[in-house]
Amino acid sequence: MTTEAVRPPETAQFSRAESQSPEDVPGSPVNTPLVAGLIRELLIALGEDPQREGLLDTPARVASWWRSFLSPDPSAMATRFADTHASDQLVVVGGLNVWSLCEHHLLPMQLDAHVGYLTDGTVLGLSKFGRIAQRYAGRLQMQERFTRQLADEVATAVGSHDVAVTVHGVHLCMSMRGVRMESARTSTVHAAGRFRTDPLLSQQFLTLTTSGRTT
Ligand SMILES: [Zn+2]
Repeated sequence: MTTEAVRPPETAQFSRAESQSPEDVPGSPVNTPLVAGLIRELLIALGEDPQREGLLDTPARVASWWRSFLSPDPSAMATRFADTHASDQLVVVGGLNVWSLCEHHLLPMQLDAHVGYLTDGTVLGLSKFGRIAQRYAGRLQMQERFTRQLADEVATAVGSHDVAVTVHGVHLCMSMRGVRMESARTSTVHAAGRFRTDPLLSQQFLTLTTSGRTT
């Protein structure tokens, strides 16, 4: 069985950070007023005038974005459904597109993840995959670590080690700086349990997660 999950509605965290008031929010790891002050200093250090019209609200806007990006979503717990008919089926959920930040350059990376698992009387609620992916994307990350964390979380959620994850990433630190390879893609695979030991299953998963890709 192959299932293409609907793209999560909140993937563009960048658009949610338009609040003008850099207030501290209980439970958030981000000291928003301090970040706003540092952004103002950064603008000065970059030779800019933070008092000019276009930049007046920029420190507050950027601080607010950091807060929204780094605050974990507590509702990202996976929902499990018992389904005794769905036993030993390969389920592949694709189209999990999330934005994350490369921890080496603080530049965005767009990660396109596919998750595969074998059903064992338990089916994971499809909408939860996007939320799990978003939770691990909303931090300073590396694509390799994101791939492993997503696989581990899904394994915990379905209660089985038979989980595989592929991630195709576009990194702005490769596209807009350094070698400037705009079309470069980085692919990572994490396979565990039977995805590691069963070549046929592994091949099925890789075929399903790479076929139809035009980029
Ligand atoms: Zn980087």
